[in-house]
Amino acid sequence: MPRVPLIAGNWKMYKTVPEARDLATALVNSDLPAAVEVAVCPPFTALAEVGRVLTGSAVRLGAQDVFWEPQGAYTGEISPPMLADLRCHYVIVGHSERRQHFEESDEVVTRKVRASFSQGLVPILCVGERLEERDTGQTERVVTRQVEIVIAVLPPEQIRPLVIAYEPVWAIGTGRAATGQEANRVIGLIRETLGRKDAEAAAQARILYGGSVTPANAAEFSQQPEIDGALVGGASLDAPKFLAIVAAHGKSRA
Ligand code: PEP
Repeated sequence: MPRVPLIAGNWKMYKTVPEARDLATALVNSDLPAAVEVAVCPPFTALAEVGRVLTGSAVRLGAQDVFWEPQGAYTGEISPPMLADLRCHYVIVGHSERRQHFEESDEVVTRKVRASFSQGLVPILCVGERLEERDTGQTERVVTRQVEIVIAVLPPEQIRPLVIAYEPVWAIGTGRAATGQEANRVIGLIRETLGRKDAEAAAQARILYGGSVTPANAAEFSQQPEIDGALVGGASLDAPKFLAIVAAHGKSRA
């Protein structure tokens, strides 16, 4: 079965509730290609409202982070059952901005992935090397380790539906995207890493590229055989730009 490309928008800490409603409304009112799956990940404060706008549409709802306990005295945190209650389908876990600014370790990321699955949420696990790691030839080692640590504790039935986003840290929000070829190579390595645990997972799991994806470079990524879509930050905040990225992926699968 061919993997359906996924284009997920990470709205980060942008959009008030009315702004989020307008953006989601523009997406659901547009003609989305059937061959591509689309998801948006608004900030927590806008999840309920965006969820209402998406009801009955093909666009899926995702959250940007999650805590690993189901409930308790964890001021400020949001749990997997709370996200499931809002009908989130996806949850981004281990985004480099969380690893960097909130010191999230691989162990924390792993707990969050497991907790997400326990509530039926599909994690979008973000991995990627920092600039100094790339410059010192450590990309493969870093990315393989980030993936291996998480999948080591997952049964094959949970690795298969997992979404992984390869996001080189130096490419996020910098306007300096990886080349399609470069991203395809690292994503191929990630797929091999999955394959060492479960061949079926390597065939089924979707692996996205993220890092300064724009309408101008989307086609380059969409044409790569190992890349199953994109995690889009900045360009997902603007409906025409995000829709152009979705359309580019629709064309390459048409
Ligand atoms: C992201 O936030 O995951 C991301 C890839 O951001 P940008 O597209 O802005 O680089």
